[in-house]
Amino acid sequence: MKLLVIGNGGREHALAWKLAQSPKVETVFVAPGNAGTAAEPKLRNIALTAHDDLIRFCRDEQVAFTLVGPEAPLAAGIVDDFRAAGLPIFGCTKAAAQLESSKDFAKAFMQKHGIPTAQYRTFEQVDAAHDYVRQKGAPIVIKADGLAAGKGVVVAMTLDEAHAAIDDMLLGNKMGSAGSRVVIEDYLTGEEASFIVMVDGEHVLPMATSQDHKRLLDGDQGPNTGGMGAYSPAPVVTPAVYERAMNEIILPTVRGMKADGIEFTGFLYAGLMIDASGAPFTIEFNCRFGDPETQPIMSRLDSDLVDLVQAALARKLDTVQAKWKNETAVGVVLAAHNYPETPRKGDVIGGIEAADQIGKVFHAGTAANEQGEVLTNGGRVLCVVGLGADVAKAKAKAYEAAGKIHFDGMQLRRDIADKAIRRQAD
Ligand code: ATP
Repeated sequence: MKLLVIGNGGREHALAWKLAQSPKVETVFVAPGNAGTAAEPKLRNIALTAHDDLIRFCRDEQVAFTLVGPEAPLAAGIVDDFRAAGLPIFGCTKAAAQLESSKDFAKAFMQKHGIPTAQYRTFEQVDAAHDYVRQKGAPIVIKADGLAAGKGVVVAMTLDEAHAAIDDMLLGNKMGSAGSRVVIEDYLTGEEASFIVMVDGEHVLPMATSQDHKRLLDGDQGPNTGGMGAYSPAPVVTPAVYERAMNEIILPTVRGMKADGIEFTGFLYAGLMIDASGAPFTIEFNCRFGDPETQPIMSRLDSDLVDLVQAALARKLDTVQAKWKNETAVGVVLAAHNYPETPRKGDVIGGIEAADQIGKVFHAGTAANEQGEVLTNGGRVLCVVGLGADVAKAKAKAYEAAGKIHFDGMQLRRDIADKAIRRQAD
């Protein structure tokens, strides 16, 4: 069987690598892929992005199904286009992708369906936005309405920061069209976790729990990024929190989308804030797997991912189960110089093979040159995953592997998974 994965990040490397482990799979094409997917057995990069070209390719190669990694092609309607061409594809439609691509849509949806989330208002007029913030006080959270790759959110601890963020987004055009509307919401406190499930329109198959680290620096300091590391499982999601997240957030979302005539299929990701009482609130929805959560979660999946996707495409997710290794996985992101601003490209990366002997190196922003060297080619460059009998052992493995890798300007956090380690010690 031949499959196609759309995307070029660490998430897509991990998904394609996992699909390729299936004995049923002959080749997983990755469009466009990166230097890591190019080097992996059974994986082959193809340099196509236009939907028409991809559809023609799938027909010619008789691709059994396509799996979409990132949000941009989903928001651009790749699932709609493939379905119209009669080709199996796992992901959500353009309409359903609004859960992620418009924060205003997501907030209005949650309000309508009684899904717990922070109170909010949406603004296009700068004066009204400033008035609202003045009235609410700080801390307060200012979000660009549209897709901004994790960088369109300002958690303003002071009113000055809040006013500046409003001006940047609505007047300064800092986020382009994504920031022509802003959502302003109450500041929530607690611990965050990622709750990711597969959805076939009706049934839900939960993936293992995980926790991302969005800030650039140790101790959750510095600017927000696409994610600097993740681990799975996340002990903050206790069995009680898990039940509540399923019953109060995930299931009402899937049912609510169906009731609103926008059926959801694909990976659904709820970013949770879990307060001190164990109540989960929805910070955001993503309509795809998380990056870097995919890398540790796929490292723990003990089931054949092909079977799970095929069950989802047949709308029979209720007939399958996902088995997870009884180990913890910790993934540490190695980012380029000057990430998340303007990351430098072209630095030579060394030590990948040595790191792969200890853990698993998933590539993101990498490219190979004619001499066969691997170079940095994006903000987040690699994600190194270690598995261990407990979270401390998994963390040690991940950092031992990451320690083998070097490139100029490499940035990494040293405290990935420490929250879980502290929780275990309590
Ligand atoms: P990404 O696409 O990377 O997942 P995003 O741009 O969709 O991110 P959000 O997830 O909404 O942005 O917010 C980014 C981060 O800002 C959150 O992970 C959280 O740490 C913080 N944040 C967002 N909303 C709130 C809130 N209401 N209260 C406190 N912190 C928040």
